[in-house]
Amino acid sequence: MTLNATEQTNHFLQQGFDILKIPPRHKTLLLTPARELRVEIAIEMDDGSLGNYIGYRIQHDNSRGPYKGGLRYHPDVDLDEVRSLASLMTWKTAVVNVPFGGAKGGIQVDPSKLSRRELERLTRRFVDQIAELIGPDTDIPAPDMNTNAAVMAWFFDQYSRRYGFAPGVVTGKPVELHGSLGRDAATGRGCLFAIREVLAREGKKLEGTRFSVQGFGNVGSWFARLTHELGGRILAVSDVKGGIFNGDGLDIPRVMEHARATGSVVDFPGARAISNDEILTVDCDVLVPAALGHVLTKDNARDVKARWVLEGANGPTTAEADELLESRNVVCIPDIYANAGGVTVSYFEWTQNTQKYRWPEQQVNSKLEDYMVDAHRSIARTMEEHRCSMRKATFVLAIQRVQAATEMRGLG
Ligand code: GLU
Repeated sequence: MTLNATEQTNHFLQQGFDILKIPPRHKTLLLTPARELRVEIAIEMDDGSLGNYIGYRIQHDNSRGPYKGGLRYHPDVDLDEVRSLASLMTWKTAVVNVPFGGAKGGIQVDPSKLSRRELERLTRRFVDQIAELIGPDTDIPAPDMNTNAAVMAWFFDQYSRRYGFAPGVVTGKPVELHGSLGRDAATGRGCLFAIREVLAREGKKLEGTRFSVQGFGNVGSWFARLTHELGGRILAVSDVKGGIFNGDGLDIPRVMEHARATGSVVDFPGARAISNDEILTVDCDVLVPAALGHVLTKDNARDVKARWVLEGANGPTTAEADELLESRNVVCIPDIYANAGGVTVSYFEWTQNTQKYRWPEQQVNSKLEDYMVDAHRSIARTMEEHRCSMRKATFVLAIQRVQAATEMRGLG
């Protein structure tokens, strides 16, 4: 039986609940989203026709602080996907211990089919439709798949037209417009700190470690670039159009140049073409799914040759694949830790907006490192205490923190 996205996420939570023996009424509380909003977004297209889209904002939990989480523009966006991603944000913010809850939003749209002006109108109408639910101390969106600093700038501007200057309403803004230095690279950089810590625990180094990276968007490309700079060997990368492989390691700065010039990593000279499926089963040490969700399934998990799976994407591993990987001693470094660098620096951006003060990039990066190292230490401690997999321990840690906040606040 195939589980939907929310059931997949809940499966991992359920494992944490079982370890912690969470009573049923608390389980319900922790699983159920606090608020779900579905909106119609009608805009005028460039040719004068009507564009009619559906958008969502789901607020999962705010016991530890304001709701926080990205906005995704993708044809697969639906209630189920956003619900599962909103829940993941609750656990992610808890793992890195930033004072936020969890939320997610998105629009069901293929943004590559829209002009820049249409995208701007879509974003501004979306803000109008969800404006009453969000705010710098209530719910703070951010970039996610197919949204970037430019989209966040429109978001900030539209919200500020209604409520006055409010840069803290959204994070991931351009650096010129109250964004934080280091935010763009933060998720990839956080992934790098995560794998560095995991390897170090086994007495291993990043240098010479072999990686296969699925996805060359914000997360994958920054991760590949920073890892390459530190001597990691990136054997394969891919984007929506396909992948490239070189057993000696790819020259990532040149791959980036090629991708900038041609719009894709495909046809990079000195590499052979491989598919987005093959990239998952490359003979390497660390597999980094950094694109879509649910790419590791019961059908391909047996063929994964990596020792570690570093989840740059949200929800790349299905429940069945996770069990198969665990039984084969493949260690999954779960999304709610691995890719938490993005929301961590979002927290720093929000803090800077509140302070009306700019941190130097060095400070942002070194604070990010502190948060990732700290979270790893807590996860490792939890793994030892409960003698369980890294994914289970990470969920246990997150559940403990959210549960404690929920209890302290009380239900009355
Ligand atoms: N969309 C990113 C994530 O999934 C970042 C969220 C944020 O910065 O609020 O973690």
